[in-house]
Amino acid sequence: MQLYDISLPISPKTLIYPLNPRVSLRWVKTPHSWLTKTTLGTHTGTHVDVARHVFKNGWGVDAIRPKVLIGPCRVLDLTRNRKAIFTKDLLRHRIKTGERILVKTTNSKRGFSRFYRNYVYLDGDAAAYMAKKKIALFGIDYLSVKQYGSSDNRPHTELLKQGIPIFEGLDLSKVSSGTYIFVGLPLKLVGRDGAPTRVVLIR
Ligand SMILES: [Zn+2]
Repeated sequence: MQLYDISLPISPKTLIYPLNPRVSLRWVKTPHSWLTKTTLGTHTGTHVDVARHVFKNGWGVDAIRPKVLIGPCRVLDLTRNRKAIFTKDLLRHRIKTGERILVKTTNSKRGFSRFYRNYVYLDGDAAAYMAKKKIALFGIDYLSVKQYGSSDNRPHTELLKQGIPIFEGLDLSKVSSGTYIFVGLPLKLVGRDGAPTRVVLIR
């Protein structure tokens, strides 16, 4: 069994999306142990986005059915795309209802040590296409699914209004395209907009 940990490490050095809170970890000493007082945004490192992120009355992280979070997935090689992922790219891969779809782009190669604005994002029409296909979940290898600074929020809204969670911050640099078992278990934050998630792929 091959296991790939595609999660980003969390520390004060973790790359943070602009305007999101920084990571703060402080030791707390109790008489017989140490623990950590933690401050971090829900969209820190590898994490899931859910409907409450973009809809005032949207469903929260705790509403994701566990069986969505574990099961077969497909990693698509979209490393030839320079700007965004468009519907035509997805058509080529014949996406089926109920699939877990992760996209590997040049973002994984550029790495997660410094923020850049021109990351490869998901186009709004392409998001609508996958929503219509009713995929189980979507994942991308950068901190946001949507173009930096764009007012077109359909990459979030189209998927989330259809009940499809979006995983962001996946490090796919060591993973090739193909089929894997996806395991991604976010913290069970009640009614919240997103949560850090440990994601592994198994082959
Ligand atoms: Zn997010």
